[in-house]
Amino acid sequence: MKDNIIPHDYQISRQDRRAKNNHNSFLLWFTGLSGSGKSTIANVVEQKLYQQNIKTYTLDGDNIRKGINSDLTFAPEDRTENIRRIAEISNLMVDAGVVTLAAFVSPYKKDRQNIRDIVGNVNFVEIYINTSVEECERRDVKGLYKKARAGEIKNMTGISAPYEAPENPDIEIKTEAVSVEDAANLIIDYILPKLKL
Ligand code: ADP
Repeated sequence: MKDNIIPHDYQISRQDRRAKNNHNSFLLWFTGLSGSGKSTIANVVEQKLYQQNIKTYTLDGDNIRKGINSDLTFAPEDRTENIRRIAEISNLMVDAGVVTLAAFVSPYKKDRQNIRDIVGNVNFVEIYINTSVEECERRDVKGLYKKARAGEIKNMTGISAPYEAPENPDIEIKTEAVSVEDAANLIIDYILPKLKL
């Protein structure tokens, strides 16, 4: 089947779309435990980019798990497929010239490597939102830790499922020491040179 898929030679390229936008496009991937602060920080980063006329889009559990990935569970193989599909969607977004933000627990190293392989090393910025499980559990934004402790949720990352921390993230934010605003500014400072064509 794959042999019969011959790509069409479209005249407008990724580079053309980037040039039209006047900025580069790439993927900002936020990884960390549930409640670590991925969406909170991504949201502030996106606002700052938006204010600078950068084209952005944020992918997160709400728009992915409830839509295209609603058929997937939190079992290891489904988590891998979840991330693979998000990486492919991100790749299309980057191709469309959009600075894409993605906030997903993404606990497995091999899955994050797979994202890097799909979108390409230069287009992938790995941001590790490093918050201790104790602090995430104290925050318990969505009440998931309480449910996990009560045995109502299986496969809860940090409690009953592993989180493999990045060894060499492009950016690491320790939210117990850095405010949301400072975290967003750190990320913006890092990506400003990358935005230039
Ligand atoms: P995640 O998207 O990683 O599941 P959320 O962003 O939904 O996490 O929740 C993180 C919670 O932690 C929010 O209620 C946020 O206000 C709070 N928080 C406290 N300090 C910080 C910080 N320095 N950085 C990010 N979030 C923080």
